[in-house]
Amino acid sequence: MTDEQGILFILSGPSGVGKGTVRKELFNQITDLKYSISMTTRDRRTGEINGVDYFYKTKQEFEHLIEQNQLLEYAQYVNNYYGTPRAYVEETLAAGHDVFLEIEVQGALQVKENFPEGVFIFLFPPSLEELKNRIVDRGTESTDLVLNRLNEAKNEIKQMNAYDYVVVNDQVDVAVTKIQSIIQSEHLKRERI
Ligand code: 5GP
Repeated sequence: MTDEQGILFILSGPSGVGKGTVRKELFNQITDLKYSISMTTRDRRTGEINGVDYFYKTKQEFEHLIEQNQLLEYAQYVNNYYGTPRAYVEETLAAGHDVFLEIEVQGALQVKENFPEGVFIFLFPPSLEELKNRIVDRGTESTDLVLNRLNEAKNEIKQMNAYDYVVVNDQVDVAVTKIQSIIQSEHLKRERI
């Protein structure tokens, strides 16, 4: 028999490391995992859909959510707010489903305070040079923003020791297989005999 409560998995790491790609591929492979869609005040990028990629909010709406304690964690990242809706995570875990967050490092550290039993996975870039190339190649950011994101990434990497697992994202399919193994072993660890 397994615990009734689902397990909270947190995938974090610097912007540009490929968290989004890894998460999407993981969800192609695993169907019984629930993704928590974040709130953000940043502009919608081409191709992104409200309610699928993010819930897009104004600064005022976001600050209202903070005041109402409706966010499990939130962070200001490169001049925008990003946050995790508390009710969705708590209700989904209570219903016995695993929940998966894909968030930046400040937010992950806040989640750790509230959910120390969560499983914290740090996605690590093959190198800083490669990380810079990935941010530039994405072509969605101005030069200033690229530099901001790269500086942020260097600070984020310093927090790596707070995590349970570190997975290098050299190849997406290999990183996904490793995360699948982590999910499986965390279930085995929590099984009651
Ligand atoms: P992007 O603007 O590239 O979609 O995301 C910027 C950063 O914010 C990424 O590192 C992404 O993982 C992170 N992020 C997305 N949603 C959340 C959230 O709900 N909370 C926090 N703290 N970070 C988030």
